Amino acid sequence: MSGSRTMRAVRLTEFGAPSVLKVSRDVSVPQPGSKQVLIRVHACGVNPVETYIRTGTFAVKPPLPFILGTDVAGVVETVGEGVTAVKAGDRVFTTATQSGGYAEFTVAPDDSVHKLPDALDFTQGAAIGIPYFTAHRALVHKARVKARETVLIHGASGGVGVAACQLARAMGLTVLGTAGTPDGMELVLKNGAHQAFNHREDGYTDQIMEATEGKGLDVIVEMLAKVNLSKDIQMLVQGGRITVIGSRGPIEVNPQDMMSKESSIIGVMLYFATPEEKKETAALLYSGMEAGWLRPVVGSRYPLDKAAQAHHDIMESPGAAGKIVLTM
Ligand code: NAP
Repeated sequence: MSGSRTMRAVRLTEFGAPSVLKVSRDVSVPQPGSKQVLIRVHACGVNPVETYIRTGTFAVKPPLPFILGTDVAGVVETVGEGVTAVKAGDRVFTTATQSGGYAEFTVAPDDSVHKLPDALDFTQGAAIGIPYFTAHRALVHKARVKARETVLIHGASGGVGVAACQLARAMGLTVLGTAGTPDGMELVLKNGAHQAFNHREDGYTDQIMEATEGKGLDVIVEMLAKVNLSKDIQMLVQGGRITVIGSRGPIEVNPQDMMSKESSIIGVMLYFATPEEKKETAALLYSGMEAGWLRPVVGSRYPLDKAAQAHHDIMESPGAAGKIVLTM
C-alpha cells in the first residue's frame, strides 16, 4: 500500500487526549489496490466516534500507527484494478476509507466512494457519510417512519441531527427538533424542523407535548439517551418507537412506561448496516442531493493541523451548529 511520495497526515502513534493528534509530513501516500480508489482529500468530517477511538478506551482499538477519518470529500487521483464507477478527476465523497481520512490522500474501497454532485462543496461532501447514513438508518431501517407521523429529533443541531431533520421533513413527517442554544434552534428550523425547543431550558418537554396537543410522539431519534431516555419513554404515543443513536453512559428507566404503551426502544449502530441497506440509503440520499433538500450544514472548519482543537471542540461544544470538518 505504500508509495514513494509523501503527504501530510494526522497519524496516531499513541492513544490519549486530543494533543496526540499531530501532523506528520513524511507519511507515504497510499496506493490503491484492486477495487480501491486513491482520493486527493479536500475535507474530512470529524465525528464523535473518532474522539472515542482516539482515547484508546473504545471497543474499536486499531493497531497503531493509525489515521482516523472515514468521511472525506475530494477528487479521484487514480483508481485500482477493477474500478469502473469513478475515474481520475471525479469529485467524490466516501463513507469509509482504508487508510484514514485525516490526510492529504486516502485510499477507499470503491463501494464506499460516491460521486459528489456539483451543488455541494467539498466541506459539505465531508458531512454526509456517518451523519446522513446514521440518520437514515434510524428513521427508515429502524423506526420505519411513515409520512404524517410526528418525530422528535432530540439533539437536532449537530451532524446527525441536521441530517435527521432534513430527511424526516422530506419524508412527510411533522418534525420537532431540539438544540441547546437560540442559534442552534434557528439552525434546526432552517433545516426542516416545524418547531424547535431548547433542551437546556426547564419545562421544554412540556412544550413539546403541547406541540403534539398532548398526544405525544410517534418516534424519537435520541442523541443523548443517558440524559433523556426515561423522559422520552413517557412522551411516546401508544406503540411509539425510540431510536437510540447516542448515549455516552447509563440511565435508569421504568419498564412499566414501555409496557403500558407497548413502545419500543431500538439501538442504532451504523456499523451493522448491510451492503443492501447501504445501497438503499445511498440511493435515497442521492435523490435528496439532486432534488435539493439534502444540504449538509458545516458549522466549523479547521485546518488539518488543528485536528486536536476540532476533537476538543466537538466534545466540549457550548452549542452545536452543524458539522465540524477538517480541511486540507
Ligand atoms: P454532534 O455534531 O457533536 O452533535 C451533538 C448533538 O447532541 C447536538 O445537537 C447537541 O445539541 C446535542 N445535545 C447536547 N445535549 C443534549 C441533550 N441534553 N439532549 C439532547 N441532545 C443534546 O454529534 P453527532 O455527530 O450529531 O452525533 C450525535 C451522537 O450520536 C454522538 O453521541 C455520536 O457518538 C452518536 N453517533 C452514533 C452513531 C451510531 O451508529 N450509533 C452514529 C453517529 C453518531 P447542542 O450542542 O445544541 O446542545
